[in-house]
Amino acid sequence: MQTIHMCDLYGQYFTMKEEIDSAMQEVIKSTKFIKSGKVVDFEEKLAAYLNTNVITCGNGTDALQMAYMALGLKPGDEVITTPFTFVATVETAVLMGLKPVFVDVCQGTYNMDVSQLEDVITPNTKAIVPVHLFGQCANMEEIMAIAPKHNLYVIEDACQALGTDYIFKDGTKQKAGTIGDIGCNSFFPSKNLGCFGDGGAVFAKDDKLAGTIRSIANHGMKAKYQYERIGVNSRLDSIQAAILEVKLKYFDKHIQARQKAAAYYDMHLAELAWIEIPRRVEYSTHTFHQYTLKTDRRDELQAFLKTKGIPSMVYYPEVFHLQEAYKFLGYQEGDFPVSEKLVKTVLSLPMHTELDEEQLEYIVISLKEFFYNI
Ligand SMILES: *Cc1c(COP(=O)(O)O)cnc(C)c1O
Repeated sequence: MQTIHMCDLYGQYFTMKEEIDSAMQEVIKSTKFIKSGKVVDFEEKLAAYLNTNVITCGNGTDALQMAYMALGLKPGDEVITTPFTFVATVETAVLMGLKPVFVDVCQGTYNMDVSQLEDVITPNTKAIVPVHLFGQCANMEEIMAIAPKHNLYVIEDACQALGTDYIFKDGTKQKAGTIGDIGCNSFFPSKNLGCFGDGGAVFAKDDKLAGTIRSIANHGMKAKYQYERIGVNSRLDSIQAAILEVKLKYFDKHIQARQKAAAYYDMHLAELAWIEIPRRVEYSTHTFHQYTLKTDRRDELQAFLKTKGIPSMVYYPEVFHLQEAYKFLGYQEGDFPVSEKLVKTVLSLPMHTELDEEQLEYIVISLKEFFYNI
C-alpha cells in the first residue's frame, strides 16, 4: 500500500504533470511573470465557472482584507463571525480596526449558528462574515434574509469551499462565495483548488464593487500612476495562474474524488457509536476540504492512528475568543460552548483526490480496531 498522506499534492500533480509542466514553461519562456494573459485567462475561466466577477490576488487573507477595504468599513465597525475558524477571518478584521463579534457555530455542521445573529447586531454592526467551514456552506438563505433587515453586508469566507453548491429552497443553486456581496477564496496548495504556492481571489457580482476591488489590489490605481484610493499590492503571479488554469479543467473531477472518499468513510464509520461523522445539510453540497469527525476519545484515537501510519489533524485546536492575541476582545471561557467543545473533540482524517480504496479500507479498519478494541 502507498504511504497515506493527509493531502497528496505530489500524487495529484503526477496525474496532470505534462500539462502543468508545459503551462509553466510557457510562462517562463514569455518572462511575463506578473499580470500576463495567463492571469486574465484564468480569471475569465473561473468567472465563467462561478458566474461572477473574479479578481485574483496574493492569498485568501488578502482577499478578506480587501473585502473589508472595498466595502468602506471604518474603525470601530463591527463584523460578526465565528470563533471556530482559521485565523485570517478574524485577524484581517482586527488589522482594519474593525471589531470582530462572535456567534457560536452549530455542533453538527461547524458553521455559523444563524439563530444567534440577531442577538448580537448593534447599530455599529456592518457585516456578517460566514465561513463555509471544511467545504459545506453556512445557512446563506437565512443570512441573506437577516442582512438587509439591518443594512448589513455579507462577506463569505469561501476559502475552504470553492466549488460547493448552495441550494436555495426553490431549488436554484449558486456557488459558494457568489451569494453575498463579496466572496473570498484561497488557492493555498491544500485548498479545494490549490496552486503551487500562495494565491487567492475575491468574488463580487456587482461590477462597480468588482472594479473597486481590482483597484485596491493594484495599489489603488485608476490609470497608470494615477491613484484614486489607498490600496495594497496583492496579485496572483502568472506561473500560479497557469497551473490553476490547468487544474480548473479537472476541478469537478477532483471534487468528485473527495466526495467519493467521504462517502466511503461515511458508509463504514456510521456504525461506530463513539464517533459522529460530518453532518450534511439539505441546503449545500459538501466538497470536503476536510472530512472532520467528532469523538470524545480524540487524542487517544489520533495517537493510535499515528502508530498505524495514518496521519490526522486537529482543525482547529483552539477557539479565537480565548487565544492570547484576541483576549482584548473581552470574551470569557463559556461564551461559546459549542466551539469550546469542538476544539476538544474534532479530528480530520486524510482527505485528498488520490486516496484509493485500499488506503480507505485500511483507515476505516484501523478506526474500528481502535473502537472495538480488537
Ligand atoms: C485558508 C483560509 C484562509 C486564508 O487563506 P490564505 O491563502 O492562506 O491566506 C482564510 N480563511 C479560511 C477559512 C481558510 O481556510
